Amino acid sequence: MSEIGSKKLKAKLLEQEITSLVKQSRNLKSDLEELEGILTKLNMKALVPIERIREFGLTNVTEKAYDSALAQTQLRLKISALIKKKNSELENNNRLVQEKSELLKALSICSQCNGKGMSIKAQYHREEEGIIQVGEETDICPSCNGTGSVSL
Ligand SMILES: [Zn+2]
Repeated sequence: MSEIGSKKLKAKLLEQEITSLVKQSRNLKSDLEELEGILTKLNMKALVPIERIREFGLTNVTEKAYDSALAQTQLRLKISALIKKKNSELENNNRLVQEKSELLKALSICSQCNGKGMSIKAQYHREEEGIIQVGEETDICPSCNGTGSVSL
């Protein structure tokens, strides 16, 4: 496979991974908002329908969770723990998105000019003692048209 072909494939995979992570983060955020809302209500001694709590995977929670103050405290602790877990998942996701975005950016850097957008040509002058370099000439990189990056 050509260099650009393999870069294209890598970029495509990274884009897919980023899209899926961003989607997961969005779901986590909406879960967290919902869970914070539930916890606030429970802290104000309001009853939240158990089905709404069970939606978050706390499937063993039953109506008994409201039977006593102790059971209510235990339910709040369970929800707090879930919020903590989802927050750390969200943090992890965001870190991965950042890492993968940087990898993606690095992949698209033009390899001809190293992202500078210019190619440097040395100029030579012929003299009796031999050929000497008299200067450098810069040109817009023909590979990336001066943008420093290639589209993948
Ligand atoms: Zn270039």
